Amino acid sequence: MNNNNIRVGNLFGIPFYINPSWFFILGLMTLTYGGQLAFTTQLPGIVPWLVGLSASLLLFASVLAHELGHSFVAISQGIEVKSITLFIFGGLASLERESKSPGEAFAVAIAGPLVSIILFAIFTVIQTTTPLPLALSLVVSLLAYINLILALFNMIPGLPLDGGNVLKAIVWKITGNPQKGVIFAGRFGQFFGWTAVIIGALGTLNVLPFGNFWTVLIGWFLLQNAGNAAQSAQLEDKLNHFSAAEAVTEESPIVKQDITLREFANNYIIGKQPWRKFLVTDEESILVGVLEVEDLKNISTHLWGETTIKELMKSYEDVKTVSDTETLLEVVKMLELQKESELAVVKEDGTLLGLVEKKGITQLLQSQREQQVSQKQPQAMESSFQKSSSSE
Ligand SMILES: [Zn+2]
Repeated sequence: MNNNNIRVGNLFGIPFYINPSWFFILGLMTLTYGGQLAFTTQLPGIVPWLVGLSASLLLFASVLAHELGHSFVAISQGIEVKSITLFIFGGLASLERESKSPGEAFAVAIAGPLVSIILFAIFTVIQTTTPLPLALSLVVSLLAYINLILALFNMIPGLPLDGGNVLKAIVWKITGNPQKGVIFAGRFGQFFGWTAVIIGALGTLNVLPFGNFWTVLIGWFLLQNAGNAAQSAQLEDKLNHFSAAEAVTEESPIVKQDITLREFANNYIIGKQPWRKFLVTDEESILVGVLEVEDLKNISTHLWGETTIKELMKSYEDVKTVSDTETLLEVVKMLELQKESELAVVKEDGTLLGLVEKKGITQLLQSQREQQVSQKQPQAMESSFQKSSSSE
């Protein structure tokens, strides 16, 4: 989603945005539907277009109700809804995180279509039981139709659609693996995406009696999102197969607290990897502090022989730690969440194993697929422990 979205306000505390592309749909729908009404009904003057405009705005309200359906169920699970955005292909409720169980994921996914189908039922009942003026009756029947389409279209069982999320939850429940669910539902999404692109293309070329350029666009949208979802799930699945311990940087910057600065300079700095910071451990290899190499400058060199690391090190409170048995997927989530580029890996008994860095994780994954040499070099973030090669 791009950043051109216009902030409209808050809805039940959820930031609400409209993408400018939505106004295009508003105009298009008002004109086509209004024009249709002007042609087929006896409605006077600008009334057909007013009906068209209100129908468009009610479409907007229907999509919004659908997204609020997802949002309320997510909130009930303690998940924050970051925003609701309306854009050219519908709506999007952006959730801060995934549901924790397949049952909960199922509930969030099904809530939107459920709202749409309930609205369809309500408008159908109104239309069939209440005598209304023509213009109003047209709007009510259109609303019923719109909500039915919203429910049915979204229940197509492929990601990124709600039906895809339902499918994902089911596969997750069966296999016990959320990533498998995403990969499976993503493949279905790609299948439906290609189907829409092909039907749309054939329709545009008049080979088929249905399908148009719009169908191609929707198919393209599905393909993009389904592919991305499947790809990141595959990556997550891989990360799940490794532990933090397996990605620890070889020759991590670790130094014992009792050695002198002189020994440190000779054995760890001269001709060695240009680390900027070192983790300091005691006799039992327990993490006790952090040494900034920069700080050596504050000690005059003739004192280096009698000053120990312990005297110069700082508290390690700033260094985030992770258990050695944690999966790499959890490690990556922690790195993202805490905006860190590395974590210190410690065993249950407190002994320090070393650093796990974003760079190291990328390298580990790369070594896992050496066959695919043509892959682009991933952009690894510089570790804050490491001097960047370009500076100094
Ligand atoms: Zn939905």
